[in-house]
Amino acid sequence: MSTPARIRRSIKKEKISPPAYLKYKLPISCEDCSHFSFIHQKCTLGNATKDHRKQAQTQSYMQSGTVAFCRLLEID
Ligand code: SF4
Repeated sequence: MSTPARIRRSIKKEKISPPAYLKYKLPISCEDCSHFSFIHQKCTLGNATKDHRKQAQTQSYMQSGTVAFCRLLEID
């Protein structure tokens, strides 16, 4: 008999206040990041982008008021 897999949150999400979200163009997604290759639709650092892409971030914010910031996001 094997031990059941532990259930845990896979990614930490952070809140952004609605006024700030609406007022500023916050760089919160891969499409805003210097490390994102639009040609290959991938992170050039090899990170998984699923939770950081603009569509995922927008959906997350609309549903919960939170986004999954990538700690390696860089802007020019
Ligand atoms: S560093 Fe983070 S935000 Fe930038 S492209 Fe890679 S996964 Fe996306």
